[in-house]
Amino acid sequence: MALPKTEIIPCDNCYERGSAGSYGSTRICLACGDVEGKFDVLFNRVRTIQKKSGNFDLLLCVGNFFGSTPDAEWEEYKTGIKKAPIQTYVLGANNQETVKYFQDVDGCELAENITYLGRKGVFIGSSGLQIVYLSGTESLNEPVPGYSFSPKDVFSLRTTLWSTSQFKGVDILLTSPWPKYVGNFGNSSGEVDTKKCGSALISSLATGLKPRYHFAALEKTYYERLPYRNHIILQENAQHATRFIALANVGNPEKKKYLYAFSIVPMKLMDVAELVKQPPDVTENPYRKFVKQASLGKQIPAPEEDSACQFFFDLNEKQGRKRSSTGRDSKSSPHPKQPRKLPQPPGPCWFCLASPEVEKHLVVSIGTHCYLALAKGGLSDDHVLILPIGHYQSVVELSAEVVEEVEQYKATLRRFFKSQGKRCILFERNYKSHHLQLQVIPVPLSRCATDDIKDAFITQAQEQQIELLEIPEHSDIKQIAQPGAAYFYVELDTGEKLFHRIKKNFPLQFGREVLASEAILNIPDKSDWRQCQISKEEEETLARHFRKDFEPFDFTLDD
Ligand SMILES: [Zn+2]
Repeated sequence: MALPKTEIIPCDNCYERGSAGSYGSTRICLACGDVEGKFDVLFNRVRTIQKKSGNFDLLLCVGNFFGSTPDAEWEEYKTGIKKAPIQTYVLGANNQETVKYFQDVDGCELAENITYLGRKGVFIGSSGLQIVYLSGTESLNEPVPGYSFSPKDVFSLRTTLWSTSQFKGVDILLTSPWPKYVGNFGNSSGEVDTKKCGSALISSLATGLKPRYHFAALEKTYYERLPYRNHIILQENAQHATRFIALANVGNPEKKKYLYAFSIVPMKLMDVAELVKQPPDVTENPYRKFVKQASLGKQIPAPEEDSACQFFFDLNEKQGRKRSSTGRDSKSSPHPKQPRKLPQPPGPCWFCLASPEVEKHLVVSIGTHCYLALAKGGLSDDHVLILPIGHYQSVVELSAEVVEEVEQYKATLRRFFKSQGKRCILFERNYKSHHLQLQVIPVPLSRCATDDIKDAFITQAQEQQIELLEIPEHSDIKQIAQPGAAYFYVELDTGEKLFHRIKKNFPLQFGREVLASEAILNIPDKSDWRQCQISKEEEETLARHFRKDFEPFDFTLDD
């Protein structure tokens, strides 16, 4: 059977003839159109390609990842019977039927090697490849359905990117719908009339973000537009060009191209002259005129909060390591800023301290293996998190030396809060979270006794049919929970723990809700952290105060 042709198409901007020097920072990627549940077809194809051309760094899927097909095939991936042969990133639902697969709007691992990026945000891949993603289809009506984005989403995504210093553009933009008007001034888009179909909001997003590559799907056809300019000639300095590529659906009978291979050097590692080199077939920008005519600016309301936008970081260096494993030392590593080998996230993470965009202003103390940060939208001004510096999903996975420092932080925080007339309650939820977060919430001694807190947890758990097991003081969660098993536990100031093994569903806010309830802190309106958000300036002030108060107790400052 003849398969759709796939070949490495080096982009003009980054292809350097005979220059092997920059190879280490070149990412070799695959993009794919609607998978529609044909996981075996896709991954077998990827295996064949990898056998022939060597391994790729990642696979980006746009359009419908799930189809209306039965779940049997997906179950095999979900349960680990089958495994994707490449780190795969997918966009969310485009219809009501498939919303159920994407429970966590912030993105999550769907199966081993398959990660849902989230509703919208920025994902930084290895070497700093910047990928912006927007899931779903366009909706101009409020409330926006779970499978759609609104003008507000587009606005906040654009604003977030623009606010980063010296914004020049992004490496890759992933959307499911085509941008409206993309065929203007370009080669023929075949049977798809781009003046009628597609999303004008995506045209506006592409205009604002200036991606070097923009991938889309949903139209069941392949269309590679000639590259277009992002600057106005004779009026603006030259900027990099954009390549728009729409991909067909996996395993389509017409054998239209659904997989696209390309190599790219992250723009932040390129020199400007190289980056802005214009391909010979470059065309006029298809959107500029039309986006202005449609006065999209007016249609887009001001954003209420940009924090809903996700920043994710993938510090996975697998590829870099593999390439330097030929006996050469790490001096030639393209990641000189990595201070030491830390466990790396398999996908996006924004709690790894090495992530360039981690909310550093919230960090209040940094140890050897762990750090302390104020909780975003905390229950109180001194609600803190103990976090491992490297990527560990749960307490169960920590090595002995990391555990030791966690314990040291716990003991120090207990002393610190005691000096302020408070006892501290600690909980961990290893469920729908990628990076271990130990929540530490101080409760004034005058509010209630430890037993009242314990009772509140037990009562409220019973009400929600959550089985809390009392486990003895000093017992180890490791002895109770297997690595990978989901759980929740709360640790009282006496060291007693209440443990729950999560089987299927667990209310994400449970720990907060109980602590915020009348029986304990009596601030029920604060049980949702989103209700507690404050400005960055206020957060900075709180962090400054905490650091100052905590300083006499902070063991990391001792010589
Ligand atoms: Zn992490």
